[in-house]
Amino acid sequence: MLTATRRFEFSAAHRYWRDDWSHAENERVFGKCISPYGHGHNYRLEVTITGTLDAATGMVMNMTDLKALVNTVLEEFDHKHLNEDTPYFKEQMPTTENLVRVLWQLIAARLPTVARLAHLRLYEQSDLWADYDGADETIFARAYTFASAHRLHAPSLSDAENRAIYGKCNNPNGHGHNYTLEVSIAGTVDAATGMVIDLEALDRTVRSVLDQLDFHHLDRELAAFADKPSTAENIVVYLWGELAPRFEGRLCHLKLWETRNNTFTYSGPHAA
Ligand SMILES: [Zn+2]
Ligand SMILES: [Zn+2]
Repeated sequence: MLTATRRFEFSAAHRYWRDDWSHAENERVFGKCISPYGHGHNYRLEVTITGTLDAATGMVMNMTDLKALVNTVLEEFDHKHLNEDTPYFKEQMPTTENLVRVLWQLIAARLPTVARLAHLRLYEQSDLWADYDGADETIFARAYTFASAHRLHAPSLSDAENRAIYGKCNNPNGHGHNYTLEVSIAGTVDAATGMVIDLEALDRTVRSVLDQLDFHHLDRELAAFADKPSTAENIVVYLWGELAPRFEGRLCHLKLWETRNNTFTYSGPHAA
């Protein structure tokens, strides 16, 4: 399948609040987002289309046309208050999950017949986004960081082999990274909250696992890496094993950034 992606930005305000809930209930579920006059974001939208490659033009769709089409849709949202200035959030919360689905409907309806919408990714901020491909389920994703020391060393190999394979990463005293873990959760959007998952609960669950790594030495302080090398591959598989059972089948995939250049993505079994 051939896809083409174009990025867009728009800025909007919004507020999460349900009149049929008490102040305490609103605050418990929506946190700071209940602030009465709203707050705002620079949203980033990635629009991915697919279709048949036209032999004459060498394009699925002219990206200039896609740009114009999507910008027409975004005019309704850019520099607006999502609750007050658009008709889409009178009955549902203007969450990232609901907004990406609204944008899907509006963009898909305007695409020419030669192209089809394949995927939308909507960032509310750089560490919080939603993915949608037109299915029942929406994916909500969040990025977390942790800072750990480690040393790459395979106990089953000789010191000379370890030095040859891992090079600088085999330094006996260790080195470290600012790791970033992207956690993607799939699910239906809750009608009352507009969310795929309770953000507070997600943060608490992921942090409880990452706190065991954060500001620690992976090999010396985690039993999981006592007898196997703490490569990013092994770390992301380990984190899947820790997190998947806590999300009861809803963990979609994990992506681990070891550095800005190296990323590792894993989707494993949901039960041990
Ligand atoms: Zn917000
Ligand atoms: Zn390293």
